[in-house]
Amino acid sequence: MMFKKTVERVIEKHEEISRTVCDFCNEDITPNGACDGNEVNIEAKLGDVYADADTRVVELFDCCPGCWRKKVLPALETLSGRRCVLYHMMWGRLDSETTKTETT
Ligand SMILES: [Zn+2]
Repeated sequence: MMFKKTVERVIEKHEEISRTVCDFCNEDITPNGACDGNEVNIEAKLGDVYADADTRVVELFDCCPGCWRKKVLPALETLSGRRCVLYHMMWGRLDSETTKTETT
C-alpha cells in the first residue's frame, strides 16, 4: 500500500527588473501605450572579446525619452559640435549633413 503526504517544494527565486528609473529625472521609464517604441540606449562596452569570453565592462545610463531630447542630446551635440545622426527604422538615414565622402 502506498501512502502519500504533502511535500512543500522550494520554489526557485530569481530577480528580474521590475522597473527602470531615469538617471536624469528619477521618473519611471514606462511605455506610453502598447505601440510605444521609444528606446534610449546610452552605453559603452569597453574591454576585450575573446572566442570563449566577453570580458568587457558595460557603462550605461538609463534615460527616458524626455531627458534624451531635453538634456542628453543637446549636451552631446554641444560636446561634439555636430547634430546627431537621424535614422528612420524603415526609410534609413534622414539627413546627409553628418555623412561626408572621404577623399583620398
Ligand atoms: Zn528622465
